Amino acid sequence: MARSFLEYKTDAWVQWCPGCGDFGILNAIHRALAELDIDPRNLVVVGGIGCSGRTTFYVKGSNLHALHGRAIPLATGVKLANPRLKVVIAGGDGDLLGIGAGHFVAVGRRNVDITVIVFDNAVYGLTKGQAAPTLPSGVKTKALPGPNIQDAVNPLLLALASGYTFIARGYAYHTAQLKEMIKAAISHRGTALVDVLQPCPTYNNVMTNQWYEERVYYLEEEEWDPVVKTPEEYRRKVPLIAAKMLEWGDRIPLGVFLKDETKEPFEERLERQMPGYMDNPPSSRPISVDGYPLADPWKVFEEKVVKKVEASY
Ligand code: SF4
Repeated sequence: MARSFLEYKTDAWVQWCPGCGDFGILNAIHRALAELDIDPRNLVVVGGIGCSGRTTFYVKGSNLHALHGRAIPLATGVKLANPRLKVVIAGGDGDLLGIGAGHFVAVGRRNVDITVIVFDNAVYGLTKGQAAPTLPSGVKTKALPGPNIQDAVNPLLLALASGYTFIARGYAYHTAQLKEMIKAAISHRGTALVDVLQPCPTYNNVMTNQWYEERVYYLEEEEWDPVVKTPEEYRRKVPLIAAKMLEWGDRIPLGVFLKDETKEPFEERLERQMPGYMDNPPSSRPISVDGYPLADPWKVFEEKVVKKVEASY
């Protein structure tokens, strides 16, 4: 029998402001995990720093809270140590696209089989609402002394340029549609991005629920086909996908922009280089015998330092 989404909730008190878009995203994550019937023992949610990072406390799993900007490399390490786990990252646009931007790019180049969910509210909510990387220029939210004079980064285009093989954008209060996107992202073999637009009612008084509802529409309304099966099809479709990703203003598209089935995940590349990796990944190898670590740091120190120093006399 399928699991109930209630099985993925924890007892922790959810500490977000009333009306925060994070609630919708959390709800969609719980329901997506239940419908995919993922065993919480095989789930790792890695959170960044920020309001969104608290998701790790609210979803049942073997979760980790990373240093600022380091959710992606930590999640990559978890996945490569044990490729049987489902690994989901929950971070804000400030964490993943500001201090963590280099890692955001690197994971796409590798196509590691993990899902990156960006809680995209365009502000640093936890630290009182400063401009985050996705705040468009010219916008003045209430914490800013004047309109933003930096240009925004486009998470979808950055993901496309970095090699992500699944790219979607959802809206936090459209929980049913968002749940389907998260399910598709987790089921995808390779690095998947779900950029979730979300109001921050406490600090972003411009991009409100009403602001989004007046603008968002779904790609399905235009019979959009995100699936790419061959490199030729990829080259043909990429300009159209990029143009659609640039659309922002009176109309903001939501949905799955790209599902690239031409590239193998990093884990399969590793298996080719190290036959047996998938059957015997690092997490299943012994690290000690009779209580003694197999990697003896004293032996290494003796070999690399002590012998060299002795030889120099
Ligand atoms: Fe949500 Fe903004 Fe409050 Fe953070 S500060 S919990 S993003 S409403």
